[in-house]
Amino acid sequence: MMEGSREAGAASFQSADDKWAFRWQLSGPSQDPFLLVDFENDGLAVLFDCGVRVWGKVKTILKVRHLLITHAHIDHLIGFDHIIRSLLGENKTLFVHGPEGITRRLSAKLEGYDWDKSAEQELILDIREYRDGVGTRSVLACNRRFEPVSAPETFSVYGPIIDEKHFAIHTVRVAHGGSPCLAYVLSEKDSVRIDKDRLDALGVEPGPWVGELIRRVEAGSAADNDLITVGGSETSISDLVRDLVRVRRGRVVVYITDTVYEDGWVDRLKELATGADLVVCESTFLQADSHLASVYHHLTSVQAARIARELDARQLMLFHVSSRYHPNLFQAVQEARSVFPRTDMIQPARRTQSRRGRKVSE
Ligand SMILES: [Zn+2]
Repeated sequence: MMEGSREAGAASFQSADDKWAFRWQLSGPSQDPFLLVDFENDGLAVLFDCGVRVWGKVKTILKVRHLLITHAHIDHLIGFDHIIRSLLGENKTLFVHGPEGITRRLSAKLEGYDWDKSAEQELILDIREYRDGVGTRSVLACNRRFEPVSAPETFSVYGPIIDEKHFAIHTVRVAHGGSPCLAYVLSEKDSVRIDKDRLDALGVEPGPWVGELIRRVEAGSAADNDLITVGGSETSISDLVRDLVRVRRGRVVVYITDTVYEDGWVDRLKELATGADLVVCESTFLQADSHLASVYHHLTSVQAARIARELDARQLMLFHVSSRYHPNLFQAVQEARSVFPRTDMIQPARRTQSRRGRKVSE
């Protein structure tokens, strides 16, 4: 089982010999879902869903630029109020993404409070909802009591819904009964750097050519026979690339929760995320209860494993396991490993009382 942090119910994973440029924390296997991705070097974070345990992550929540909501069932959305509470007084824009109807639902939550119409309350919510290739954007301002600052705008969605300097995010429609639901694919961009040790060893003086070389490699516009001026002499780009340039492949993280298995969306996911480094996938039911998975529009552990296998993923992390299986949540991993061996889950938090008999799905 993957080692958890001391903080019950969440853990992060970063292998020393295979360093990732971001850290991630996932909710415990049967807790309300969230995945928090922290791009520490960029000072920003991305949050997928907002289960109740995001309450313990205030420091990172202050850095969240994008909140991506899969759907509006309460276990995925209950932490939203806390996020707003944490960000009040911050001079920032929080981008919120979700399926159709999310703007109305979040506005309704915000209307449940009184807000001081203070000019200092500069928090802005930029909410984008997606349906069938069309996005609708609404901007709500805290100092206007979260009323829209203008009429909603619509736009076409062809590629990623988010395109930041170091990563992009695509969305894929999944099938969760009557609740519109999205899965997300985070694709980190490849990073290019110069090998400083190699530079020293060659005795080459750094200069403006370093930035130009990196820019051209990143843009894919460094043809083999191009020349760059280095230390007053023309030098072949292909030689520089071979000797000095190191490319770190960007990671791909897939977040899937609350859906039945359908070939259509799995095929779309394969187009976007084959070879994914990490697939975080719900595993609400064991295979023996697959009839319940169909009834409640969820996946079984074996179906989650099948998705990871079809994506040719490096790692599958199961979460959103029904509390009906306590204290044997790890059964889900054991089942999944028969189909996809590189499966794991966050170590479950200790429980003081059984939750058997509670409603098992949202
Ligand atoms: Zn749900």
